[in-house]
Amino acid sequence: MLIEELSSPKYSNDHYLLQFLEATFNNTDNGIILTDENLKIIAINQAFTLITGYSYNDIKDQTPRILKSGKHDLSHYKKMWQEITRFGFWQGVMVNKNKAGEQYTEWLTIKAIKDKEGNIFRYIGIMYNLSLFEEKQKTINFLKSCDSATSLLNRSAIVDYLAGLDKETKQQLFLSVIDIDHFYFINERYGTATGDLALKEIAKNLNRLTLPNEKLARISADKFLLVGQFEDQHKLALRLASLKNKVSKNYFINSYSIDINLSLGIELGKNELNDVSTLLRNAEQALTQGRKISYGLVHFFESSQNSLTLEEINLARELSHAFDNQQMELYYQPKASLVTGQIFSSEALIRWNHPQHGVIAPDKFIPLAERYGLIHRLGHWVLEEACEQLNRWKKTTFSNFKIAVNMSLQQLMDVRFLDSLKQVLKKYNIVKGLEIELTESVLLSQEKNGLRILEEIAGMGIQLNIDDFGTGYSNLSYLRKMPVKFLKIDRSFITEIIDNTSDQMIVRSIIAIGHNLGMQVIAEGVETQQHCAWLKSNQCDFIQGYLLTRPLPITRFEEWIGNQQI
Ligand code: C2E
Ligand code: CA
Ligand code: CA
Repeated sequence: MLIEELSSPKYSNDHYLLQFLEATFNNTDNGIILTDENLKIIAINQAFTLITGYSYNDIKDQTPRILKSGKHDLSHYKKMWQEITRFGFWQGVMVNKNKAGEQYTEWLTIKAIKDKEGNIFRYIGIMYNLSLFEEKQKTINFLKSCDSATSLLNRSAIVDYLAGLDKETKQQLFLSVIDIDHFYFINERYGTATGDLALKEIAKNLNRLTLPNEKLARISADKFLLVGQFEDQHKLALRLASLKNKVSKNYFINSYSIDINLSLGIELGKNELNDVSTLLRNAEQALTQGRKISYGLVHFFESSQNSLTLEEINLARELSHAFDNQQMELYYQPKASLVTGQIFSSEALIRWNHPQHGVIAPDKFIPLAERYGLIHRLGHWVLEEACEQLNRWKKTTFSNFKIAVNMSLQQLMDVRFLDSLKQVLKKYNIVKGLEIELTESVLLSQEKNGLRILEEIAGMGIQLNIDDFGTGYSNLSYLRKMPVKFLKIDRSFITEIIDNTSDQMIVRSIIAIGHNLGMQVIAEGVETQQHCAWLKSNQCDFIQGYLLTRPLPITRFEEWIGNQQI
């Protein structure tokens, strides 16, 4: 309908039409301004107030010049008015100024309205706020790249991002597919609404652990992709294992208690320089490779050339079940004082009683456990077993006996470690008697967190020993700060101690360092009386080794101790 027709008497009494017009006038996003022939403002709509900040009272009797921003020169307005006079109409971009003095860009349409005689008696201006449009466009682009359920990037957005990276960046790139184990089961058991909430929570946690220069996306129903730069594959593996452990936990959703576990597959950019889809496929393949061994692993992609031997894969798979199948056992090896000859402590050493291969030594399966994220389970099992033994000994002649367990750095850095340690101590009511042996790598890790964790452990009444001392690069000033009671000299220095003068020098130095730091020193791998005599004459405090006995299963160990005391 043309506005000219509206002014005819035919419509002047049509109330419905007037109501309709008023509603339209006030419910459009376009700002509308009506002036008389002298440009005096006689009406505005609500959108105009929203765009400019001016209410009707602010500007009635003013002219639209009040909106002038000074952005356009005189010729711009001149041209505009020429067109309005000639064609009754102008359209174009105009930069104006709102009540607060801020500029905004609008798409403006001005129409001149003529009376029956052909004289202009009204001007109507319709403005569309382009600044708003830009904002909207940004939102639209954002929504296009966003996964609506989790507000993370979606698959196509992350693929675009990866495709846009330069070659150098891609060479230092890691892609980690993060998959929720058995998610279909969560949906099935608790319903999809609960599943969706779980997904949101997991996304939130993952997002919190994503570093500023990394990107996290949801790439399918229960799969996320984390991409970023890495320097050192080992450190990356530790970081991702810790991320996995932090997010894998019990969630309380819709009053259900739901156990969430994650598996990660990782591909590194250096393997494939350009092709994003190959990188992605390999990361997903890594996930599948890992799951063939066990769920809950952090697994790096292995191409068929350097893939694990079938034997290793089988062993790793069996290892993941060995704890539940009662195939693990702790052997005990005594430690003796060179001063008093007394034996009051032992080291617990894990053995795997494999149904086909017999007893497997830890050197064979601990690296496998570390590689496949099973070390936490292993460590927990050892702790529990050792504490249960301490508890059993409480009412016997062994009540003052101690057990040292070995811990790798990876175990210690696991966020769940302190909690599970506390739990086990509480469960078996252990306040003394537990020792932890840590290798020097703990001293190397500069993480401030490391010292705090050690202090907490010492605070629980657990004695800390540094294992394999002399093989790493110890930071002595750091060592001084640590709540460590014992240094254990690595076996490699003891083997030839009688003939090798440089080993002798090293061992003397270690004993001196230990004593100067107020610690006691123990030598491991003591196999002969000569070893023992040399160490004793050089003020070593304790020994451990085949000279006393090989590590023994618990009943034989108790028998052995019993025989010593006769
Ligand atoms: P480690 O902590 O240095 O343990 C000492 C190793 O030396 C043990 O080997 C022990 O059996 C062996 N040994 C003891 N006395 C002698 C000796 O006189 N001569 C010789 N030649 N060897 C001797 P094992 O039990 O095979 O353990 C090897 C390594 O596996 C351990 O080295 C430790 O790093 C790791 N390990 C063992 N049990 C655990 C565990 O429960 N948790 C973790 N994280 N690591 C463990
Ligand atoms: Ca040890
Ligand atoms: Ca050792």
